[in-house]
Amino acid sequence: MKSLAATIHNFNAGPSILPQEVFEEASRAILDFNESGLSILEIGHRTPLFEAVMKEAISLTKELMNLDSDHEVLFLHGGASTQFMQVPMNLLNDNEVAAYTETDVWGTKGIKEAKLFGHVEVVASSRDKNFTYLPKGFHVPATVKYLHLTTNNTIYGTQWQDLTPFYKYNVPLVADMSSDFLSRVIDFNKYDLIFAGAQKNAGAAGVNVVVVNKNILGKVDRKIPTMMDYRQHIENGSMLNTPPVFAIYVCMLTLRWLKNKGGVPAIEKLNNAKAKLFYDTLDSLPVFKGTVVKEDRSKMNGVFVMQDPALEKEFMEICKKEGMYGVKGHRSVGGFRVSMYNALPIESLELLTDLMKDFANKKG
Ligand SMILES: *Cc1c(COP(=O)(O)O)cnc(C)c1O
Repeated sequence: MKSLAATIHNFNAGPSILPQEVFEEASRAILDFNESGLSILEIGHRTPLFEAVMKEAISLTKELMNLDSDHEVLFLHGGASTQFMQVPMNLLNDNEVAAYTETDVWGTKGIKEAKLFGHVEVVASSRDKNFTYLPKGFHVPATVKYLHLTTNNTIYGTQWQDLTPFYKYNVPLVADMSSDFLSRVIDFNKYDLIFAGAQKNAGAAGVNVVVVNKNILGKVDRKIPTMMDYRQHIENGSMLNTPPVFAIYVCMLTLRWLKNKGGVPAIEKLNNAKAKLFYDTLDSLPVFKGTVVKEDRSKMNGVFVMQDPALEKEFMEICKKEGMYGVKGHRSVGGFRVSMYNALPIESLELLTDLMKDFANKKG
C-alpha cells in the first residue's frame, strides 16, 4: 500500500482522494474499532461506540463551519442527488416559486426535481456558453421561497469566488456545496440549507452532510414521508433508521484531520497555493488552454484542453505512465480535469505541472 501511495497521484473528481491518515485509521477500525474487539462494520448504531462517532462528527462540523444554534447538522443517506428532491419537498409549496441558478448539470438536475413540487424560475443560466462562465448581476424576485445555487461546478470547473452578491437578495439561500465543502472560509450561517455529498471533499461515498436552519422548516402544506422530513431527522439525531455507519465514521475522521490541520482557514491557504500553481502553469504554456473564464475558475476542479486536440491522447498517456490518476475530463467537456480537493498534497500538483511543462517544451 505504501509504495502505491507513493507513485499514484489521485486527481479524481469524486469519489476522490482522502488524507492518508484517514485511510490508515479507517482500515484499523475495520479490524478492531477503538480496541473494542469489534469491527466498525459490525457494531450497532445505537451503541455508545457509534453514538460517540456521530456526536463528534456533528460537533466537528459545527465547529469547523462556525455554525450558530439555529443551524442543525444531519448525516443523511442518498447522496447529493437526493437533496435535489428533499429540498423542494420540505421548503416549497405547489403554488410557490423557487429561484434556481443553472451553472452546471447539477443545477439542471436540481431544477428538474424542484419542478415536481412547485414552480421554478431559472434566474441565471450559463447554458448558452456550455457553462464556461458564471452569470452575474441577475435579478431575483423577493417573493421566491428560496434561491438555489451550486457553489462549485464540478464538471465544468467554475466556482463562485465571491458569494456576497447572493446575500443581498434577502431570500433564503440553499447551496449545493458538494465539491467545495469546507475548502474555503464562507459565512455558512448566511445559508438556510447547505448540502454536500461527502465523497468529494469530506469523506467516503454513501453519506450527505446537510446543514439546515431549523426555522425554515414546517412551512409547507404537503405531507412529507418520514425519511424525507428534515424535522424528523433532527429530532432523531440522524438516526431515524440505520445510518451509513462506516461512511459517517470516515467523514468524522476527515473532519478531525481538517481540524488538526488548522481548520478551514488553513486548508483554504493551501488550496489557494495549489490552484495558483496549477493555473499559473496552465496560463504560461500555450499548448494548453483553460476552458472557463479566468475570474470564475474553480480552485477545486481545473478543466483544460489542448490547443491541438490531436495531442491530447499523447499527454493522457504520459499522465497514465507517471501515475497521474483521474485526470480525464468529464465526457461532456472532454480534455482534462484536475481535481485539487482538500486532501490532495501540493506535491502531486508539482509533479503534474512539471509534466505539463516538459510536454510543452517538447511540443513547443
Ligand atoms: C457530485 C455532485 C453531486 C451529486 O452527488 P451524488 O452524491 O452522486 O448524488 C451533486 N452536486 C455537485 C455539485 C456534485 O459535485
